[in-house]
Amino acid sequence: MHNRQKADPLVRMLGVTKMYVQPDHYDILILDDITLEIHPGEFVALLGPSGSGKSTLLRIITGLSEPSFGTVLYRGRPVRGPNPNAAMVFQSFALYPWLTVLQNVELGLAAKGVSPAERHERSVTLIDLIGLNGYEDAFPKELSGGMRQRVGFARALAVEPELLCMDEPFSALDFLTAENLRSELLDLWLESRIPTRAILMVTHGIEEAVYMADRIIVLSKNPARIVADMPVILPYPRNRKSHEFMQIVDTVYKVVTGWDDHPSEDPNIDVIDTQSEERPRLKPIPYGHLSMLSGLLELVADRGGRDDLYHLGAELFLEVDDLLPVTETAELFRLADVTEGDLSLTDLGREFVQADVGMRKEIIREQLRDIPMFRLIDRVLRSKANHAMVKEFFNDILEEHFSVEEAERQLMTSINWGRFADLFHYDTDTELLYLAEDQLEESVQDSP
Ligand code: ADP
Ligand code: MG
Repeated sequence: MHNRQKADPLVRMLGVTKMYVQPDHYDILILDDITLEIHPGEFVALLGPSGSGKSTLLRIITGLSEPSFGTVLYRGRPVRGPNPNAAMVFQSFALYPWLTVLQNVELGLAAKGVSPAERHERSVTLIDLIGLNGYEDAFPKELSGGMRQRVGFARALAVEPELLCMDEPFSALDFLTAENLRSELLDLWLESRIPTRAILMVTHGIEEAVYMADRIIVLSKNPARIVADMPVILPYPRNRKSHEFMQIVDTVYKVVTGWDDHPSEDPNIDVIDTQSEERPRLKPIPYGHLSMLSGLLELVADRGGRDDLYHLGAELFLEVDDLLPVTETAELFRLADVTEGDLSLTDLGREFVQADVGMRKEIIREQLRDIPMFRLIDRVLRSKANHAMVKEFFNDILEEHFSVEEAERQLMTSINWGRFADLFHYDTDTELLYLAEDQLEESVQDSP
């Protein structure tokens, strides 16, 4: 085990908060008061739902972005501008298409002022180390995804970073390639064949985190706070099939799926009020696909009405990132409860599973009536003489509550749910949202 207590931390984040100012000048809180230390010898995995702020956190640690409040210290000194002791591997590889493999790898060294001869030598050595010898003069487009990511690793490692940051580095790769790269990187790290002192990896794969890291930090979303920080005490190389491994995966799964547990709170409360006193905030809805929701609930029903989320995710081939929005949707609709990593059907959930499509729509429709986002849309559509409104109008409203991207995702999810439940229709050509005819109790004539 690494001795964490004695060594001075490499990175210290103190009360780091990040807000983005929207075009309409409203602030969106992304990271809320993040305090953490990363010590030499640590391989830290950062888990959290997509859109929670993991990339933002990584950018702040490496000095590519500034916190709104709080401090980042590197070896005790405030980080100002890109940290020359840190390097980043991106999910999208981020290679320059007009440069060869060798030139891409040399890039970081040129920026550090290394002489051309040394640049060349170090890059060739790394290209070799990472298994790309013979491809020095190839262009990225001639390489497979796995080989491109090898270049991404070589480029990051070429600068001999003390801190290696990786943003979902394996998630764009096919299964086997990812598996190979994971174990090769682990070997380099565990055998100290690279001078890197600490690794921080963003991932949404729980197994990947347990396989590679010796510490896992879990973030919540809207805003991101640290909800768990736990060691992974398992010797390397790790065996995914071992009982101990699976037990840790299960524990992490429970933490990740439980971050949103507010048993005492009504999930449908109108507003949350974390950021602004003057302005009520719309509660975000999860982006659950209703077809996936049905599939999940049917599977749980087959399992006697209750099952472990980790097993359910594996059964449906869903990463936790994709499973969570669906389970959150099930909770929001009062169809299921999540407790200690288990999903169990409620009475309404059992009714839903038994019901035909028409009845299912009706059950969802009833639930949607209680959700602020739908009350808002419904109210606006009813107030119009033609009961129609351009989608853009709702984007504008939602952008006062969420970032531009999040507003779009919230709205598209709302539209999909509303269409499923026959509450309203949406014309993708005209981008018009209009109330379903049978929703007009007063039988107004102006159908669009
Ligand atoms: P993650 O990596 O966890 O998926 P990100 O850090 O990329 O999340 O983004 C967190 C949130 O911040 C998202 O809602 C995203 O839309 C928002 N965001 C990220 N960058 C910007 C930016 N430059 N301006 C405004 N909002 C941003
Ligand atoms: Mg990201």
